[in-house]
Amino acid sequence: MIVSEHIDQLKNSLSELKKQQANAKIGFVPTMGALHEGHLSLVQKALEQTDIVVVSVFVNPSQFNDKGDLDKYPRTIEADKKLLEKVGAHILFLPSENVMYPDGIPDYKIDFEGIDKVMEGQFRAGHFKGVAMIVERLFDTVQADKAYFGLKDFQQVAIIKQMVKQRKINIEIVPVATVRSPKGLALSSRNQLLSDEQKEEALIIYQTLQKGKEWAKEIRDAGQLKSKMIHHFQQGSLKLEYLEIVDPNSLQPLKEMNEQAHCCIAAYCGNVRLIDNLSLS
Ligand code: AMP
Repeated sequence: MIVSEHIDQLKNSLSELKKQQANAKIGFVPTMGALHEGHLSLVQKALEQTDIVVVSVFVNPSQFNDKGDLDKYPRTIEADKKLLEKVGAHILFLPSENVMYPDGIPDYKIDFEGIDKVMEGQFRAGHFKGVAMIVERLFDTVQADKAYFGLKDFQQVAIIKQMVKQRKINIEIVPVATVRSPKGLALSSRNQLLSDEQKEEALIIYQTLQKGKEWAKEIRDAGQLKSKMIHHFQQGSLKLEYLEIVDPNSLQPLKEMNEQAHCCIAAYCGNVRLIDNLSLS
């Protein structure tokens, strides 16, 4: 695996690899590192569908609305390198903040057509602007044919698709299913910050989503279902930030259940913020 820390280095490595394989397709997996099986499932999908797989590891400061959260974000680059090597990624792009933001963090304007105003957008001011900004920069740098994003960050996938549409970028966005622990906890780099006891307590998130799916077979009023799910969630010890039943495209809350209804949850387990989501149909 080639490790590139600079944009020129990355571009040279890509053109060398492309010379060896005419018409090679490039697959790209952007991450913030502290890699786990969830990230690796994206890399595996990219390896199945494309010829040259680039993975980036960059803890992007512009998407953190809380400095404490940025400081405590896990960083495990040596272990990440080993995992990527093992799974067979071709290039690891490992830029510094200076490489990605040589002139500091710029102003960034984009119209997300309202999908940034709900759920994560309501609780993490500026988060999606930061995500879209860095992903646009990375797309511009890597020039991939396909990019892979986890459905664990359900709203993020919608934001990235919107950014690609607005900026008319020629890239296919491939959503990948959420990888969970055997008991159902969605894998997340932030899980490293949880104690074993907290990992058990955090199972209430997936249990509530599953209950919701079961209840959705009978309950057609989305407000009623939401109240029932919140009540169930509150039997556990996590602090709920939001639980919303939404249309998966507009991300707006539903009044009446339909075949596409999707539930998204954000909650604090101690001081660790966790998110998850599930289709209720
Ligand atoms: P992050 O490093 O948290 O920015 O995540 C990088 C990518 O991995 C994003 O597209 C995430 O949605 C995806 N990802 C994170 N956790 C999981 C998971 N448990 N299953 C599938 N994809 C995931």
